[in-house]
Amino acid sequence: MKYDKNNIFARILRKELPAQVVYEDEYALAFHDIAPRAPIHILVIPKGAYVSFFDFSEKASSAEIMGFTKAIHNVIASLDLKNKGFWTLSSHGEEGGQVVFHYHVHIFSGRRPSQITPLHS
Ligand code: 5GP
Repeated sequence: MKYDKNNIFARILRKELPAQVVYEDEYALAFHDIAPRAPIHILVIPKGAYVSFFDFSEKASSAEIMGFTKAIHNVIASLDLKNKGFWTLSSHGEEGGQVVFHYHVHIFSGRRPSQITPLHS
């Protein structure tokens, strides 16, 4: 899939749309999910134009991959989730349930994966 530079997260990156930002650095932006599925539900997105994890891991530079991974680490540390516990999720494509086609990692805490209601139950 070709990257659409007008997807919602690209527009949040350009500050055309508002978001509740919790972290930003050279490589990444992190903000609260608009429809949280857990008491803590954060989205971390790279600043580069990548559709999904597959696209990112294929095309991003080593600096971008390292910077993005460290940014996720910094978000987790800043929210003090290391001891509390958390889980991460990244969707790709229709079968993966991807809705926004700018690569993003979900960080959830306060609710276990098994407690998240399946979309098609
Ligand atoms: P996906 O299903 O693509 O992995 O997840 C996309 C996520 O983006 C969903 O959890 C959805 O609630 C969230 N989302 C969609 N639109 C917006 C928005 O405009 N602002 C924020 N903060 N989150 C959004």
